[in-house]
Amino acid sequence: MSPPPVILWYRDDLRLADHAPLRAAVASGAPLIPLYIFDETTPGKWRPGAASRWWLHHSLAALAADLAGLGSRLVIRRGDSLEVITTLVRQCQARGLYFHRSHDPAQAVLEERLWRELGEKLEIRRFRGRLLQEPEQVRTGAGEAFRVFTPFWKACLRLPEPEAPLPAPARLAPTPSEVTGLELDSLQLLPRTPDWAAGLREQWRPGEAGARLRLETFCEEALTGYAAGRDQPGRPGTSRHSPHLHFGEISPRQVWQAVRGVQATDAATTRGGDAYLRELGWREFCHHLLHQWPQLPEQPFNPRFADFPWRDDGEAFRAWTRGQTGYPLVDAGMRELWHTGWMHNRVRMVTASFLVKHLLVPWQQGQDWFWDTLVDANLANNAGGWQWVAGCGADAAPYFRIFNPVLQGQKFDPHGDYARRWLPELRHLSDKDIYAPFAANPASLAAAGIRLGVDYPEPLVEHDFARRRALGALETLKKT
Ligand SMILES: Cc1cc2nc3c(=O)[nH]c(=O)nc-3n(C[C@H](O)[C@H](O)[C@H](O)COP(=O)(O)OP(=O)(O)OC[C@H]3O[C@@H](n4cnc5c(N)ncnc54)[C@H](O)[C@@H]3O)c2cc1C
Repeated sequence: MSPPPVILWYRDDLRLADHAPLRAAVASGAPLIPLYIFDETTPGKWRPGAASRWWLHHSLAALAADLAGLGSRLVIRRGDSLEVITTLVRQCQARGLYFHRSHDPAQAVLEERLWRELGEKLEIRRFRGRLLQEPEQVRTGAGEAFRVFTPFWKACLRLPEPEAPLPAPARLAPTPSEVTGLELDSLQLLPRTPDWAAGLREQWRPGEAGARLRLETFCEEALTGYAAGRDQPGRPGTSRHSPHLHFGEISPRQVWQAVRGVQATDAATTRGGDAYLRELGWREFCHHLLHQWPQLPEQPFNPRFADFPWRDDGEAFRAWTRGQTGYPLVDAGMRELWHTGWMHNRVRMVTASFLVKHLLVPWQQGQDWFWDTLVDANLANNAGGWQWVAGCGADAAPYFRIFNPVLQGQKFDPHGDYARRWLPELRHLSDKDIYAPFAANPASLAAAGIRLGVDYPEPLVEHDFARRRALGALETLKKT
């Protein structure tokens, strides 16, 4: 029998570098059990969606290979986390349980239960590492959580810079052979038939090595142009770090340090770095909000919106999910999402706005669709994004500001590259017409081979009408 081991409980921190619990477990000198629990028993509906499950499979495979490369073994179990941990502690007489703190409300409750039920039997150590700053560190002068982003971010920037990331260990003690786990395939995380994941495979490389590569490429190629390029969906102007950050294949501290490291080279890179780190600040803001208001994914942050006169329109919702609204920017975004599991931020804003303002479909419905289809589906960022667009969130876009999907396309993708990539049926339209095929003259449509209503849909709703209707719905709130 080996000496009492330490259990390293992995959740959405699937990496070896900058992993404080792993470093501490190595320093303890005890045998190590890296554990991942596939827990579908958590109450509520926020279990990983289909695209996240695909990512999780590959990320766990990458972590298992990386651990094996250092002489260790990832133990996968399935079931209620508390029960699985209790059983494993008993089976292997573990002396410690180390993990990263989670800000997900259900996971935070679980952590408290672990402490109550196992805290006297073994050493439980919880570490920081998912965020740059913990919610308790960033407070207003009155000691409260911030509700507005800009002062929040200024307060973050006044705090000491994040410390340097920790290196990955060079070797790990072998996992005790008597500790058994499941085969990854038995979790059945990958799609069966139909296999819809071809676009995801083309686009992504889940795992720590893929995350590192993405970070290096971004710092070398895109950071300099990020401040201007981040709003142009037709160009590879953003980092695409979001799924890697969500699954913790890279830490925000590693990203911070890499960006700071190249930032001072010239003025454009400095501007790009500041703009990028500010976006990382939005990630922090959303996570702090969710920590403070756990009901954020379900209820409007601004309670007045509880009475908003939403419409129940299954057909329109379905057309939106399929990229068949007749507005090319919206349709291109929804098809990019379906194909790659990701969508550009500018287009997320426009597609979400179209659903909640043009169609008056509740933001929670759109949030659920994103939850299932995004590889970066993240409770805090998704709820934060949807509530921001719907106008009911903290520091949200005012409801009366309604994106015009035609003008947004023309402004941020003036040559129609993004539309042509995702809507090949429109590729022969001119730059002028591509974001408004319904306004093109019949000769242009015929020359481009488009019959509206046959090859590409007529608009689901007319913009000016939809705008007036949305403002009318908002007016009803003022009277409540
Ligand atoms: C309706 C809606 C839903 C969204 N749902 C999600 C989601 O489920 N998961 C998710 O990670 N992001 C979500 N976002 C935020 C944002 O769109 C994505 O983080 C971003 O597009 C990811 O691409 P990137 O990594 O290239 O971003 P970059 O522009 O390179 O930004 C770097 C990182 O900063 C963070 N970030 C950037 N913008 C935001 C933002 N507005 N809010 C919070 N964090 C941000 C992300 O972690 C991102 O990886 C949503 C936004 C909207 C409007």
